[in-house]
Amino acid sequence: MIPIFDTHAHLDLDAFSNDFDTVIGRLESGTLPIIFEELLDQPIEITGVLLPGIDAQSSYRCTELSKRFSFFHAAVAIHPNYVVRATDDDWKVVTELAYSDFVVAIGETGLDWYWDYTPMEQQIAALQRHIDLAVRTAKPIQIHCRDAWDAMLPILRRAVEANKLTGIIHAFSGEPKQAMECIELGFYISFAGSVTYRNAKFLPLWESAKIVPADRLLIETDSPYMTPHPFRGKLKRNEPTLAVMVAHRLAELRGTPLKEIAQTTAQNAQQLLVVNS
Ligand SMILES: [Zn+2]
Repeated sequence: MIPIFDTHAHLDLDAFSNDFDTVIGRLESGTLPIIFEELLDQPIEITGVLLPGIDAQSSYRCTELSKRFSFFHAAVAIHPNYVVRATDDDWKVVTELAYSDFVVAIGETGLDWYWDYTPMEQQIAALQRHIDLAVRTAKPIQIHCRDAWDAMLPILRRAVEANKLTGIIHAFSGEPKQAMECIELGFYISFAGSVTYRNAKFLPLWESAKIVPADRLLIETDSPYMTPHPFRGKLKRNEPTLAVMVAHRLAELRGTPLKEIAQTTAQNAQQLLVVNS
């Protein structure tokens, strides 16, 4: 069995509402939504999926889903792009949920300089609010960082120096220099479908995937987004079993057997999110 722990999947979103039970069935049986010849004789077992909230309602749905299925674990937060429309009541919901035993992390939070939904100052204030919540609840934080490394790294450094805080850089998109800085701060680096893409602009990301120490490595799908190569454009959306394609790519880049990558990343996720929670 190839154990797979997907550390980031938005299964609570509308993209899954029509055939949620079918997706759950594939997750329980470890079946890919499409045939990948190379893995036909290597059965997959989903050992865990972290469901990150993007706003108050989504955080609530993720928490409820993790009560229903033992392999689901929830994270709660207001995504940087939705901070702009969050009310005081929304923050109250997220804060209360954060203390639930089914909630194992605070996320996804972070900074997104690519989209222009929430003013930068508001994003930074919300990130700090989530960091405080992670510290208070003693849970790891799950960070979204898009084109915002220069602002992100000093914030994380200050937070780590002041408090006991660790977490995950989700769908890591940076260069080796940034990966190493996050590692130094004690964070885990989670790779998503982007590391499987063949376009040369991803070269610094491939380099990052080679240098992250095995004990800080994680995989994710970011379902329903970021469908991995070679299924990008062929499937209408991504789903957790396809995290095996990210492990497959890491195996190729790092010269390590697929099974070893899968076992290491599943153990790391289990240790960070389940055992310590
Ligand atoms: Zn996400």
